[in-house]
Amino acid sequence: MSETITITGGGLTGLSLAIALRKNGVAVALHEAGSYPRHRVCGEFISGVSRETLETLGIAETLADARHHRSVAWFSGNDHLRDNLLPEHALAISRHLLDDRLQKTATALGVDLHTSSRRKMNPHAPGEIWTAGRKPAKGGWIGLKAHVRGISPKAPLEMHGGPRGYLGVTPVEDDWHNVCGLFRIDKSINARHEDLLPAYLSENGNTELAHRIAAAEWREGSFTAVAGFALGLQSPTPGVLSLGDSHSIIPPFTGNGMTMAFQTAETALPHLIAYANGSRTWSEAREAIQSQITKRFRKRLTSAKLLHPLLFHSAARMLLKHAPLRPLLTLIR
Ligand SMILES: Cc1cc2nc3c(=O)[nH]c(=O)nc-3n(C[C@H](O)[C@H](O)[C@H](O)COP(=O)(O)OP(=O)(O)OC[C@H]3O[C@@H](n4cnc5c(N)ncnc54)[C@H](O)[C@@H]3O)c2cc1C
Repeated sequence: MSETITITGGGLTGLSLAIALRKNGVAVALHEAGSYPRHRVCGEFISGVSRETLETLGIAETLADARHHRSVAWFSGNDHLRDNLLPEHALAISRHLLDDRLQKTATALGVDLHTSSRRKMNPHAPGEIWTAGRKPAKGGWIGLKAHVRGISPKAPLEMHGGPRGYLGVTPVEDDWHNVCGLFRIDKSINARHEDLLPAYLSENGNTELAHRIAAAEWREGSFTAVAGFALGLQSPTPGVLSLGDSHSIIPPFTGNGMTMAFQTAETALPHLIAYANGSRTWSEAREAIQSQITKRFRKRLTSAKLLHPLLFHSAARMLLKHAPLRPLLTLIR
């Protein structure tokens, strides 16, 4: 193997790809703008990933002690609408723990990891991969997340909806519950920092949950917020191989974004190995990866895009209460 792969962005896509490449003898440099461990805005609920994908990437052990959840309770406003079985077990683990474990594995395998290293895009540069996450865009959304303890859970997994957004409650490690939501930005909300979470929930009609969260113990440093991004396909930059969220963002209610991060790495892996060992040029590898990724995720992204607005519609209550949810959720796998 002679060619080095340079990855920009050490989230799940970049870290899992770096680990898989090193396990296949490829030299990898990875640049991450931040450092580890860190909290990220994420529901921390992984839905639809197969054991085979995790094993191909060499990261199955990292998730071996993740919590398994099979059912979810749906709420609208303060009303408990129904409980429903997921198409398969979902995994739950905090990003604080998961990303840190992956960076330790990557480092132990010899990935040349540079933290606090923010890079610029370098279009057409051979062997360069962009996994830097969401691209800046006017999307009108705000994502809010925190870890809380003593929340008096109503079910193993809770999903709370309303006209302005939704929020999931997921148990992660050490009695902490991750509370993470996506809301339409509302400039009339007069709150800052941690207070934003209960304020958005109250505006969304989830007042009972807002009180439970406000009264709980908050894990220090865990509150994070993100805005300035759009869902769906991210505007591509010619000559740049973008993977994970940099390629496309599936609406978070699917719990499938982390799965897509792993699956884009899995799709890219054989082509990058072929490039590194000289049996394929960079442009051949890049084009093959782009075309396979488009094919692999087209149906899922389209289904999620169609379903997402329904969650905010006044009909959402009826849909959530009566629709056969398992077949709908299977569409977004
Ligand atoms: C509100 C919300 C809830 C979500 N809930 C879930 C969920 O429950 N389940 C699920 O599966 N998915 C969920 N997701 C989606 C999931 O978080 C993402 O799909 C996943 O994190 C994508 O991983 P990634 O590695 O592509 O990007 P990221 O995890 O965003 O990683 C990108 C990395 O690149 C770094 N970076 C950025 N710019 C640069 C630069 N210029 N140079 C170097 N490094 C850079 C960043 O610091 C970051 O570490 C949610 C998303 C949102 C917004």
